[in-house]
Amino acid sequence: MALLGSFAEQERKTLSENIKWMFKHRLFEKGKTNSKNIYGYKYTGDACEIVPKQAAVVHRIYEEYLGGYSMSEIMRHLNAEGIKPYCGTKFHINTIRMILNNERYTGTLMLQKTYRQNGKKLINKGELAQYIVEDAHPVIIDKTMFEDVQTEISRREKECEDNKPFFSGKITCGKCGATLRRINGEGGLDGKPIYYWTCRPKRRKRECFMRNIPEKSLFEVCSDLQDFEKIIAHENNELVFIMPAGSEIKREWRGRYENHKSPRKNKAAD
Ligand SMILES: [Zn+2]
Repeated sequence: MALLGSFAEQERKTLSENIKWMFKHRLFEKGKTNSKNIYGYKYTGDACEIVPKQAAVVHRIYEEYLGGYSMSEIMRHLNAEGIKPYCGTKFHINTIRMILNNERYTGTLMLQKTYRQNGKKLINKGELAQYIVEDAHPVIIDKTMFEDVQTEISRREKECEDNKPFFSGKITCGKCGATLRRINGEGGLDGKPIYYWTCRPKRRKRECFMRNIPEKSLFEVCSDLQDFEKIIAHENNELVFIMPAGSEIKREWRGRYENHKSPRKNKAAD
């Protein structure tokens, strides 16, 4: 077991504290972590061993993820085959995520990933020093595969972000204050879905009677205003666009059928 290095700023200051911490948790003495067993390994006495059947499942999870399957698809595959996780009877999406995120499978141990403050377990995001101990475990996933998976997780998260509906989180109902959400209305003549933006959670409770806004109308009404920060939707089809510099531009949206009859010019009022 080799202590390779830390990536904390106050390295020297915290070094002795950390060594104390590690001795307290017997990490140096026994070469193991104070955490519970994780899927793929078992501790017998002082030694950490691979559980071959579980290790094969861990490897398969990594391979399927890199093969393009989503975490929930992998979860379904495993559950359909009756493969059991470490605890409980079924894999949950979080178990898959934790397995894909856990650098321990590369044989590396990160110390002080979490810490306790006022009785709460917090994730160490650089508040305390972190140490990497290499070759602390037998290897199930090699470092290249692990890094590939981390890159792929970030790539998919970003893709998800990029595919978010354009108006997500941008429209507030001027009447009830809710953030408008996108719903799928009845299909149009061509069978394609028609999206609306609504403050429906409140509408259901009859607290707000703001009209749903067709997404198409929103795009039409702001086609020349790409840089707005927020939209406040008022009654009588009025939309107030808050611009980055703080100025406001008022527009009026028209419904699906109203659009067909008379394409009208938008009036800017600021
Ligand atoms: Zn509302």
